[in-house]
Amino acid sequence: MSVNPEALEPLRLGAASLGVTLDDAQLARFAALCDLLLDWNTRVNLTAITDPAEVVTRHFLDSLTCALALTPDERLHPIALLDVGSGAGFPGLPLAIAFPRWKVTLLEATGKKTRFQEAAIMTLKLTNARALNGRAEELARAPEHRGRYDVVTARAVAALPALLEYCLPFVRQGGVVIAPKKGELADEIIAGERAARLLGARLLDPIPVTLPPLGDDRVILAARAERPCPAQYPRAGGAPLKRPLGVEGRKDK
Ligand code: SAM
Repeated sequence: MSVNPEALEPLRLGAASLGVTLDDAQLARFAALCDLLLDWNTRVNLTAITDPAEVVTRHFLDSLTCALALTPDERLHPIALLDVGSGAGFPGLPLAIAFPRWKVTLLEATGKKTRFQEAAIMTLKLTNARALNGRAEELARAPEHRGRYDVVTARAVAALPALLEYCLPFVRQGGVVIAPKKGELADEIIAGERAARLLGARLLDPIPVTLPPLGDDRVILAARAERPCPAQYPRAGGAPLKRPLGVEGRKDK
């Protein structure tokens, strides 16, 4: 099933309202990504969204909202970005298409999803993106990745405390973790604030996303790394999920 050029219009307009200009070549790459995703999705379970118009809004445009956490000036830099738990490449692939100066690394634990990411990078000739297969808790211990990224994104990977424990060890001092989120977040934000402090970071004010095609229950949460992340994080053996940092009643809080 091929994406209708009209279905790309909400993406072009939505991106423009985020301050992101997409030219025809970039829109053609988004169309090719949509085709590839829906083709692979008939064989490999990559996404529950199968309508091309919804792929365009709920995957592509939603991914680009991460840019709201960066100023127009910051977006011009050759940002080193890591997308943790990238799945079928979201938000990392749309960000790599929209910001060709950025160097985007996609990290995913499931091999078949990494293989899709590699196929997408090759098909779209995305020379500014690469795909890595592995778990965040393990890769974060490797010197070539620890503290090396300006921006780390994670969408739909975990609640904020575990997500920050996965992501902050990768961030350089002064860099940010960006997490697009939906729904009721009050408790998650309170625990996330405590977790961020333990991890050497500060949670920033939530940024509301007000893009008509996406509905109004989305926010961008971000945390800025103020000091190097303490060496004991991320904890091994599933601890970030089983004993989340900053959650009331835990001895880690
Ligand atoms: N970020 C994508 C998106 O928004 O479409 C995928 C979201 S999917 C619900 C969560 C993904 O995170 C899964 O593909 C899973 O394999 C991956 N994941 C979960 N924990 C991970 C970890 N610790 N390290 C690497 N990948 C992880």
